[in-house]
Amino acid sequence: MEDSKSPDFVEQFFLDCGFATRALHAGEHVKQPHTPSHTTPIYQSSTFIFQNAEEGARIFKGETPGYVYTRMGNPTVHALEAKINALEGANWKMTHPEARVSTLAFSSGMAAVSAAIMACASAGDTILLGDVVYGATEHLCFHLLDRFGLNTVEVRMSDLAAVEAAIRANPKAKAIVFETPVNPTLEIVDIAAVARIVKAVNPSIRVIVDNTFATPYLQRPLEMGADVVVHSTTKYIGGHGAVVGGLATTVHDDVKDELYKVIKDIGNSPSPFDAWLVNMGVKTLPIRMDKHCDNAMKIARYLEKHPKVARVLYPGLESHPQHQLAKRQMAQFGGMLSFELKGGIEAGRKLMNSIKIFTLAVSLGCVDSLIQHPASMTHAAVPQEKRLKGGVTDGLVRVSVGIEDADDLIRALRDALELV
Ligand SMILES: *Cc1c(COP(=O)(O)O)cnc(C)c1O
Repeated sequence: MEDSKSPDFVEQFFLDCGFATRALHAGEHVKQPHTPSHTTPIYQSSTFIFQNAEEGARIFKGETPGYVYTRMGNPTVHALEAKINALEGANWKMTHPEARVSTLAFSSGMAAVSAAIMACASAGDTILLGDVVYGATEHLCFHLLDRFGLNTVEVRMSDLAAVEAAIRANPKAKAIVFETPVNPTLEIVDIAAVARIVKAVNPSIRVIVDNTFATPYLQRPLEMGADVVVHSTTKYIGGHGAVVGGLATTVHDDVKDELYKVIKDIGNSPSPFDAWLVNMGVKTLPIRMDKHCDNAMKIARYLEKHPKVARVLYPGLESHPQHQLAKRQMAQFGGMLSFELKGGIEAGRKLMNSIKIFTLAVSLGCVDSLIQHPASMTHAAVPQEKRLKGGVTDGLVRVSVGIEDADDLIRALRDALELV
């Protein structure tokens, strides 16, 4: 890759490859004629050398490919972007050979979410926002972007009639933003159905899906009609809890240009080292996700039968109200689950304070297991009434299931539940 613009392609060769091959090889082997290292190097440099004044001027104008300045493009960052193109976009590209897929990497998931919204809407426009979303996404829309003239309307995403009504009632809407599976209720939103309604009722609305919980290994929103996919790579894509980062992938050149403007002019680009860490993480995404899903399924089944557990929320369980939709939309059901103890929040607190192996911490998608209490932690900023309406009850405990041995995780839960 020599182009200083973000990659907007999936190499033809990768269209015929499986997910794991793409995760390992796409975007790698950045051109470096004198020191051809096997793994993508960290180009930890803020600026790049021009061979002469004329070349510098041509690169600046975009007439010659080349790098100028890391905020505007960096080879290590581009390697990651090309890899994600191949993961989110390869199958989509098979059915849209003429179209382009573009990924831009950001300094955080929130940088990607905010850039996606800014790329699609302007002052005076309306954003339709999922009723339960990541706390900072909600705060961004209601307490920051509102100051810049963006109006946000909340939509009950699991009710397709409500989605259609909201689209009809808000002709100035320019984007609909939601997550699936939803955090921490593990509700599923029917991406294809939402995209279909948008196209039928108001095609100028862009469908923005936060795919953080599923990752492209389990769910690819572009193939279901989404316009933009965003990720917090802090979670499964990075996978090791070592980096904060984000991604936005789109199939529209105009959206890509606006996303690039945000990076260039606001400067929320990732550091080369962070991009390198994420790139390294992606290589093992398929095998990590297989184990996350497998372990989560086993734990969900164990907890579902436990006499002290009131309910378990996991899309892989037949008891999950949207299990069939999850089966249709996702390859597997992910590594996140929530549950409520019969003893309510007091019991949950006791469990979190005594459990072994599981670390008491927010965030998710790490190789090791994490446990937390949404009502007092990740979702504390959400007003209680709204929280309860969305299903985030006071007794709910959320688990990010790691890739440890499942038997050990179940033993840790069993021992902690005995103390409750
Ligand atoms: C963590 C998270 C974000 C925000 O990402 P950061 O990397 O923390 O900025 C956005 N959406 C979802 C679903 C998340 O889990």
